[in-house]
Amino acid sequence: MTSSKEVSDLEHRYRQDFPILQSGDYVYLDSAATSLKPQCVVDSIQNYYTRLSANVHRGVYHEAYETTRLYEEARETIAHFIHANPEEIIYTRGATQALNFVAMTFAEQLLQAGDEVLVSELEHHSLLLPFQALCARKQASLVYVPLTEEGKITLENLSAVVTSKTKLIALHMVSNVFGYRAPIEEITAFAHSKNIYVVVDGAQAVQHFPIDVKAMDVDFFAFSGHKMLGPTGIGVLYGKRQLLEKLAPLEYGGDMNDFVSKTASEWKDIPHRFEAGTMPIASVLGLAEAVKYLEKTTLEQIEHDTTRLYRYTFQQLKKIPGITIYNPHSDAGLIAFNIDNVHPHDAASFYAEQQIALRAGHHCAQLVIQWLDIEACLRASLYFYNTFADADRFIETTKAAVTFFKSVGF
Ligand code: PMP
Repeated sequence: MTSSKEVSDLEHRYRQDFPILQSGDYVYLDSAATSLKPQCVVDSIQNYYTRLSANVHRGVYHEAYETTRLYEEARETIAHFIHANPEEIIYTRGATQALNFVAMTFAEQLLQAGDEVLVSELEHHSLLLPFQALCARKQASLVYVPLTEEGKITLENLSAVVTSKTKLIALHMVSNVFGYRAPIEEITAFAHSKNIYVVVDGAQAVQHFPIDVKAMDVDFFAFSGHKMLGPTGIGVLYGKRQLLEKLAPLEYGGDMNDFVSKTASEWKDIPHRFEAGTMPIASVLGLAEAVKYLEKTTLEQIEHDTTRLYRYTFQQLKKIPGITIYNPHSDAGLIAFNIDNVHPHDAASFYAEQQIALRAGHHCAQLVIQWLDIEACLRASLYFYNTFADADRFIETTKAAVTFFKSVGF
């Protein structure tokens, strides 16, 4: 058994890597919105701007050559992290742009009037809205997987609504409100047996679980750098090579073409065909550094520590009268809850006064909120750099909030 001293030493070691945690007593419980950034990520961005500051695939001077080398090496690092080939990694602005790209290219070609796309009420708007708009354009239908009583997706529920018209399944891997992990591997095996393609939103998964896109056999997989210790402005779309090769670019511009004439042009091979114009180079390099940090720390250790802290926090929160918790468990350190009769924005302000950061609202997943039949909720999201002291501050503040709001007549 690990002693409390050992636990505290371990927590301390991680915290030293995060500059924002070095001053004051900030309790950050909003990692599902965006994670904190370790010093090595900040350093890599600074290194690029102070020592290189060149564009990629263009100049032949030392700085340009070195920038290109690091930029393409980053692609290999990210590919290795999710078990993909480097040419299957497309840099995007984030998960949102990656999912829009799939909807506007691959799915746009695939769908005919009358076809069906399977989604769920748990989807983030970044997945739901591009496919909703696409279905409207194509006169196709969005079909919703019925959720279990706890709000989960099961293969059984999903297979019950698949028909001969289903062409695509577009789902999250981890829900950003409940933190449930969907059975993607089973879903993909089932879908492919029926010639249905699978697009997965991995924005809440990559920072918690080892991802093997080949083993999961997903057709597309999207994620954002900023939720996995990396910078904002960079995300990734993985696509199977044979599918990407058939796609035309969505954007045209510099660096995506080979030969240009007055009337036509030839595109580069994948992935560069999809990266028109100057990309967020500093953010790409920062993301590669974030991946190295996750690999060094190991996702197993991160999951272990996050889960241990989550269980403790959840058990303590459950004991407080006047609290409703909406997810009876989470695979990713998330607690969706409300203080009874208190609007979550009022509650979040109370936490903010105590320097506790958590999220209130619909979490860009309004269908989840409608499914719960509430107006909005609070979400505390824990990650491996949180400590038991953070959890205790959160619990004590929650008790104080319940008492305060009761005293003022809520
Ligand atoms: N999907 C999920 C499940 C998310 O949680 C988020 C971010 N909240 C996104 C997609 C969109 O990510 P981004 O805003 O970085 O594009």
